[in-house]
Amino acid sequence: MREPHTVALVTGGAGFIGSHLCDRLTADGARVLCLDNLITGRSDNLRSLERERRFDFFEHDVIEPLPPWLSRARITRIYHFACAASPDHYQADPEHTMLTNVAGTRHVLRLAEQTGARLLLASTSEIYGDPEIHPQTEDYAGSVNCTGPRACYDEGKRAAEALTFDFHRHQRADVRVARIFNTYGPRMRCDDGRVISNMACQALSGGDITIYGDGSQTRSFCFIDDMIEGLTRLMECRAAQGLPVNLGNPEELSILALAKRMIELTGSRSRIIQRPLPTDDPRRRKPDIGRALKLLGWRPTVGLEQGLEATIEWFDDERNRIAQPAYVDAPPVATAAE
Ligand code: NAD
Ligand code: UDP
Repeated sequence: MREPHTVALVTGGAGFIGSHLCDRLTADGARVLCLDNLITGRSDNLRSLERERRFDFFEHDVIEPLPPWLSRARITRIYHFACAASPDHYQADPEHTMLTNVAGTRHVLRLAEQTGARLLLASTSEIYGDPEIHPQTEDYAGSVNCTGPRACYDEGKRAAEALTFDFHRHQRADVRVARIFNTYGPRMRCDDGRVISNMACQALSGGDITIYGDGSQTRSFCFIDDMIEGLTRLMECRAAQGLPVNLGNPEELSILALAKRMIELTGSRSRIIQRPLPTDDPRRRKPDIGRALKLLGWRPTVGLEQGLEATIEWFDDERNRIAQPAYVDAPPVATAAE
């Protein structure tokens, strides 16, 4: 169970996963401080928390030293999620991505050390690179190309893990490490570049659905609600201290199969077209979630079809919302002639 009087800091809290986490933590009664530089996050993601007394947003880049008042804010939990996660976005400024993971992680770990707050690092299945074992277990050391365009993210996250486990070994901080596998759901951006948001937006607008390469590469997609449940359980689990834990949905499918499923579910007339396969794109990915099941009693409960339907519905609503005229203060006043 969560401790009473939890004060949680969520870095990257205006992003896709971070904003759902802010919602969940405030709903559970925590006071939540959200820190974000808004490079890929949006204040719109925090709309539901606008009037929430126990929620505050601070614009800040974690590469820079953290504001000193944070060490006096009685923080008990730090969810460190700041980092662009889409290949298009994290490769746009690789130096910033690497520094976010190295300098940014150092800043939050030192905050954890000063305050005694427990820290959960959002790591990734990308630390396994293009994996040679399948499915991936936590003891697999990975196969990452440190010279390629994904390295700023993959190696950045590996460095973030290395630093986090050093703080653990030296008893400088109480840490948890989540290795998150592809996660999707409402609040992804249409221009995010990741496969589910791309395909959902392409299918809904009737545009061509892009598969990179021949679409035979696989991924395993986890719905956001399941991920949030896994993350909050992991944070509160004593036995997971200092251990990496895979969180993801083991339901694996090819990208071509995903494109076909998207067309079926949207009833779209979109064509499927091919684009070049990006460099170092992993061939297969599927989590072994045995450790999460054993330590957290967690496994995903939302199947792909159900999760995709909810996501498609959200993107469709968003399209309609954006297409509507915005009545900022009041609806139009009827005139006498009407
Ligand atoms: P996202 O891009 O929607 O969110 C990242 C957030 O971090 C954004 O709000 C962005 O503005 C913020 N940010 C980036 N750099 C920052 C910096 N230097 N200082 C402050 N804020 C910064 O991505 P997401 O999918 O929500 O991913 C969140 C975290 O989860 C990331 O750390 C990512 O590596 C990890 N993760 C996500 C997935 C996934 O499938 N969604 C998979 C593995 C790991
Ligand atoms: N992908 C695709 N079409 C797209 C976007 C991505 O075929 O419009 C592929 C991409 O090459 C990769 C997979 O889908 O093989 C998952 O890509 P994503 O960027 O979502 O996540 P990651 O590669 O980080 O797992």
